[in-house]
Amino acid sequence: MPEVYNWQLGRTMSYPYEGTYPDRQFAFVFNINRCLGCQTCTMACKSTWTFSKGQEYMWWNNVETKPYGGYPHNWDVKILRLLEQADPGNQVWDATEPGPAKPYGTFDGKTIFEAVEKTADPSGQRRALGYIPSDDEWRGPNMYEDTSTKYVAADRLGINTEGVCLPEHKTWFFYLQRLCNHCTYPACLAACPRQAIYKRPEDGIVLIDQGRCRGYRKCVEACPYKKAMYRPTTRTSEKCVGCYPRIEGKDPLSNGRPMETRCMAACIGQIRLQGLVKMGRDGRWAEDRQNPLYYLVNVAKVALPLYPQFGTQPNGYYIPPRWVPRPYLRQMFGPGVDHAIETYTVPDRELLAVLQLFRKSQIIIFRYEIEEGPKVFETTVHGKKFEMYNDTVIAFGADGKEIFRTTVEEPFITRPEERVGSL
Ligand code: SF4
Ligand code: SF4
Ligand code: SF4
Repeated sequence: MPEVYNWQLGRTMSYPYEGTYPDRQFAFVFNINRCLGCQTCTMACKSTWTFSKGQEYMWWNNVETKPYGGYPHNWDVKILRLLEQADPGNQVWDATEPGPAKPYGTFDGKTIFEAVEKTADPSGQRRALGYIPSDDEWRGPNMYEDTSTKYVAADRLGINTEGVCLPEHKTWFFYLQRLCNHCTYPACLAACPRQAIYKRPEDGIVLIDQGRCRGYRKCVEACPYKKAMYRPTTRTSEKCVGCYPRIEGKDPLSNGRPMETRCMAACIGQIRLQGLVKMGRDGRWAEDRQNPLYYLVNVAKVALPLYPQFGTQPNGYYIPPRWVPRPYLRQMFGPGVDHAIETYTVPDRELLAVLQLFRKSQIIIFRYEIEEGPKVFETTVHGKKFEMYNDTVIAFGADGKEIFRTTVEEPFITRPEERVGSL
């Protein structure tokens, strides 16, 4: 197999095709700390793309309760177990020497592409380690909703009296928001024997050509995130299309400017920021310091990829939840978890300003600038000094024009006296 560079793993890895990279890449950052599990994103996608016959159990966007929930059920536990069986005891990171090309250190284990080389495969045709979920596993999109880990040393009401203090709770759960990661090295694309799956050169969105697909479900088997799904009425597989008409600026509301997807724009908790980042020719994001996604992932390093060890180099990134035990988070987001949580807990001036950009507009932000304002607050958080400045952050679109500006402090609006009591 050819070798490609996977910066999330800090090393080259085997992949069935040579690396080819789009000019820009569809990417997103989700702040798990702010999600309320309302499923508005889920329904925004459902009512736009998957409301037809044969799509009843198809949820391209879903929000599941971790640690027990999952759609399909136990998807991550199952793939982690398969990887462990293929390479027992070696699925580990060496985080001792991070660097610019390997910000989380190096993953020493096997990816899904490398592990399949080690497993017995008499046909020699499998391109990635995976499995096809049973019908039962697809049935409930949100099983174990709001189910927390067990109560320890419970009182008569079953409440753990020790589990109430940060930095970590002993009884915990959190919401994990998921859609296709439009991976840089997609397993779905690698596994398709019909070459029906392609990655668009202009924005990196991964699509299934419905005319070429014959429903072999190799993509369903190979995608470690289980985001390719089979539709029995058409006998083809389908997946998230990245709301590509909106990305192309074809939504009538956008006046030709690239616009964020339906699931992003509908988010009630304002946890989602989506955009297009510049790609280098080596599989890494090209430097673009003032792009908010580039800043959050590569400069502040506060947003991390989901299960980077799978090896597909996913383009969805998460600010991890502060209250969850670190070992659980490290297996899910890699060794960058401790730095990300410490940075988010006591944000510096720039991070606090950039966090204000989430969900202020549906137009995609390509660049931001900050105008400095006065200091308005100061305190100590976990022994570290925290200073708050009322800076103004200004967002610019693809055409370089200002989209909006907003301040760190929310404006205080007093209702005129003649309108008191009106809605
Ligand atoms: S998340 Fe799955 S379906 Fe989406 S691009 Fe990656 S491998 Fe393909
Ligand atoms: S990007 Fe569009 S198609 Fe994909 S999950 Fe979100 S709403 Fe659905
Ligand atoms: S709409 Fe936003 S807050 Fe609501 S479940 Fe989806 S990601 Fe979470």
